[in-house]
Amino acid sequence: MLPSLFLSHGSPMLVLEPCEARDFLVSLGHTMPRPEAIIVASAHWETEAPTLGSAAHPPTIHDFYGFPPALFGITYPAPGSPALAARAAALLADAGLHAALDPTRGLDHGVWAPLILAWPEADIPVLPISLQTWQGPAHHLALGAALAPLRAENILLIGSGSFTHDLRRLDRRGPEAPEDPITRPFSDWMNVAILAGDNTALCDYRRLAPDAARHHPTEEHLLPLFFAAGAGGAATRIHASTTYGSLRMDAYAFA
Ligand code: ZN
Repeated sequence: MLPSLFLSHGSPMLVLEPCEARDFLVSLGHTMPRPEAIIVASAHWETEAPTLGSAAHPPTIHDFYGFPPALFGITYPAPGSPALAARAAALLADAGLHAALDPTRGLDHGVWAPLILAWPEADIPVLPISLQTWQGPAHHLALGAALAPLRAENILLIGSGSFTHDLRRLDRRGPEAPEDPITRPFSDWMNVAILAGDNTALCDYRRLAPDAARHHPTEEHLLPLFFAAGAGGAATRIHASTTYGSLRMDAYAFA
């Protein structure tokens, strides 16, 4: 059975700039068994109700501004899977989570940035699932749990966010800028709770984790972690690094 994954996608420049996190994502495609299809809950798609992208050929979305033209030329032409979108929606309905299908939704950079590094051939069907940020962590644990049976069918479930995401504190000298000292205590607290499988503490991270609200002024970049945790079991940290001083790139597998 495939693990579910939480991946930090960091800056869109990740796909162009060498760094440890980029090397990790490239290696992931070689170390993971090849999935039949991939469902990604990205920080960059938020809707009122859970929604699955059901396009047969999802377009690549360049949902960022002020980056080099090379980034806007990148496409990730992976096929979609309308049939899997319908099956996932049925699993969500079984769990009391009514989901919509969106046949027009494409792949935002939270989806394609990690995938283009891990599976550059873009030949594995990919479908996005939206976040409901207003519903908080427990809802996203439930979303992941509802889709967990798909792991036994060789479907890879990914939450794509950022382990820390305070863009006001980015060190713009580059991805290798020295780590901001306030970043580590938050990451260490989260790591202990994640490895312990302590979802009760994790759901209360904004109150319990050091400087949580500074690292996540809004929650959408951490909620994909809850999607992945809900979809899987025991956690392993599969990557830890920092880019731009304050952007943690940690990744977890939930087996
Ligand atoms: Zn992002």
